[in-house]
Amino acid sequence: MQHSTSSALVVSGWHRMSYSFNDNTLISQHLESLIRKLHAFVGTAVTQERYIVFGAGSTQVLSAAAYALSLANSSSSHSPTRVVASVPYYVLYKQQVEYFNSEKFKYEGDAHTWRNRSESDASTNVIEFVTSPNNPDGLLNKAVLHGPNAKTIYDRAYYWPHFTPIPAPADEDLMVFTLSKLTGHAGSRFGWAVVKDETVFNKMVLHMQVNSIGVSKDTQLRAFKLLKAILEEGTQIFDFAYQTMKSKWERLGTTLSLSNRFSLQKINPQYCFFYNKVRESSPAYAWVKCEKEEDKGCYAVLKAASIIGCKGNVFGSEDNYVRLSLVRSQDDLDILIQRLQKLVSEEDGAISM
Ligand code: PMP
Repeated sequence: MQHSTSSALVVSGWHRMSYSFNDNTLISQHLESLIRKLHAFVGTAVTQERYIVFGAGSTQVLSAAAYALSLANSSSSHSPTRVVASVPYYVLYKQQVEYFNSEKFKYEGDAHTWRNRSESDASTNVIEFVTSPNNPDGLLNKAVLHGPNAKTIYDRAYYWPHFTPIPAPADEDLMVFTLSKLTGHAGSRFGWAVVKDETVFNKMVLHMQVNSIGVSKDTQLRAFKLLKAILEEGTQIFDFAYQTMKSKWERLGTTLSLSNRFSLQKINPQYCFFYNKVRESSPAYAWVKCEKEEDKGCYAVLKAASIIGCKGNVFGSEDNYVRLSLVRSQDDLDILIQRLQKLVSEEDGAISM
């Protein structure tokens, strides 16, 4: 809102009608170079000597990545590639594998169960999705599985100073980012992958061609305009997003610190190279635990207080956990805090202030 003119977009009716750009690709080179600049400016990813591929949100990029890696694997084995993620995981990876129902992969649940097996069984091809920071708990997860047959897809959707310290530029083989969590423009459907290996990149490009003939040019133009406006203002949007998320997280922390019934995830502070200081995380979600045996159905406990979260079992966890979203409006957060305060004040033996 503070930069509505510099971030605005007007497109003539006749403009940008064809499928491809002048260089015959489906990827705007101008947008690609802005993305590289942005990663260099914030220090979130190494992009030198890396390829970049675009998708309709990171949702499409994630499935392209899984297809590309499973194809790369298929020559060594006829059995489907196992797809895993550590609990609690973002459920989309499972949904995609199960919905697309390809003979190339099979969702196998928690990465930890495969830790020892994958190293001993040479023919096991595995793709591990690593969400870092994680949805739902905001931890900077690392891959659990290693070895020649283990491939990793790093979902870096939340790897921005808004949500986490940035301890180093991410430098994994395949990293996925999205405009949705960077600027909040989830409805524009724009995501990208930074890819080390040329063969994997080519397979992802092919996937995008076959799947949707690339990302909408209107979307690419919109993303370009937004990223350009961001880069023109230095650290402003990051400072704004960090302060906003920090204040939400602190208010929530203060509210629940008075409770014996509900607890929040703990994330250790780390040195952040963007802010040149040790700082706390300011995560997008609260991963709330109902501590008492009788509150095992944590979702229902909160629902009875008119707080609607997302059940722990959606993330492969137990139902004494609920995820609450903090990437909502300030009004929503105010109401959430009010309702939590009421709930906490009604606890037996609640700590009073
Ligand atoms: N990855 C993670 C970890 C997410 O939380 C989300 C959105 N909730 C996505 C990917 C998908 O986002 P989009 O398709 O809008 O980029």
